[in-house]
Amino acid sequence: MTEGQHERPQPIEVRPTREAIVDLDAVRANIETVRRLTGTDQLIVVVKADAYGHGAVPVARAAVEAGADRLGVADIREGLALRDAGITGPILAWLHGPDADFAAALSGDIELGVSSVEQLRAVIAAQQGDAAAAVQLKLETGLSRNGASVSQWPTLFAEAAEAERAGLIRVVGLFSHVSNASPEDDAAAARVFEQGLDAARAAGLTPETTHLAASAAALALPALRYDTVRVGVAVYGLSPFEPDASADGSSTFTAAALGLRPAMTLRATVAAVRRVEPGAGVSYDYTYRTDRPTNLALIPLGYADGIPRAASGRGPVVIGGRRYRVCGRIAMDQFVVDVGDDDVRVGDDAVLFGDPSTGAPAVEEWAEAAGTINYEIVTRIGPRVTRTVREAR
Ligand SMILES: *Cc1c(COP(=O)(O)O)cnc(C)c1O
Repeated sequence: MTEGQHERPQPIEVRPTREAIVDLDAVRANIETVRRLTGTDQLIVVVKADAYGHGAVPVARAAVEAGADRLGVADIREGLALRDAGITGPILAWLHGPDADFAAALSGDIELGVSSVEQLRAVIAAQQGDAAAAVQLKLETGLSRNGASVSQWPTLFAEAAEAERAGLIRVVGLFSHVSNASPEDDAAAARVFEQGLDAARAAGLTPETTHLAASAAALALPALRYDTVRVGVAVYGLSPFEPDASADGSSTFTAAALGLRPAMTLRATVAAVRRVEPGAGVSYDYTYRTDRPTNLALIPLGYADGIPRAASGRGPVVIGGRRYRVCGRIAMDQFVVDVGDDDVRVGDDAVLFGDPSTGAPAVEEWAEAAGTINYEIVTRIGPRVTRTVREAR
């Protein structure tokens, strides 16, 4: 188009009404930070639950670029979805129900975490063709959840070794998961894990990788790092430690102190502003009433979008650089903020959480307001919220 001809107004950037902005540069930087802090040979980046709500495919791609040695998911279908999106490199899936499709997993080159003799037999039965099925044995070491219990180990290791000799499987790794109940409890779990490693080696297994620690143990307990750590929440720039319960009671383990950058910003566009008189009831049950003439801003996010109703009357919001709190009940689709006489208008940006260094509230403030943890806040952001990926490169 020649200059001066057919001039049109510049397109105005219309931002989605409900938006979770995911900063992939932060994800990559966090992976480098975790590597530096843990110093392990390898790193498994955990992208289960849609990468903790951040978007599994873009995060997985960024993680592979940043040098993740493996991706971790809970469900086989999560792994296959990554393959369908063209993600290459090892993917480990470790939580299987009775309907688990091991054959589909193996043809999708998904490594299988195996938590029982029954699962091992099912994986062996599903193996076809020449390629041995890549398996990692998951040992129960105290958490009382997923993993083969000590009483199953002799059979598990013997049958795995036999299948390996027959070329049906390859036992790539041994792993377990700890409770974070206390450093002593986690050290006790590590001792059980060591017994498992010894017993597996005595049975003839030669795993290339052994791993016990997720973010909390990886960051706080060097003895539990082995050659690999499985890191989820820290990759998203969040601390695995509760604000008042860091390992030594200090602030050493906040995200900022660890050098982690929260990757998700949750924002919405102010959908309505109304002037009300003193005594106006706000939202269901009128748990909030205005005490002066004031402006109420309507934020179009509710519990269907993952904004916990339990944070009613408490959750923080920043509009125009000023901080407010939710007033009254959070409803399914919306909540209200009392902005006083401040100049807040329809179309303004309301930030619920993000990187606190930018002035945004921290995810942890919402977690505290709702009586939960940061993990639950980010993983529950709902499907009506547009995910926008941001990155400099
Ligand atoms: C979810 C999960 C992780 C990641 O935990 P973070 O605390 O987010 O680092 C690691 N390992 C297993 C087995 C998990 O289920």
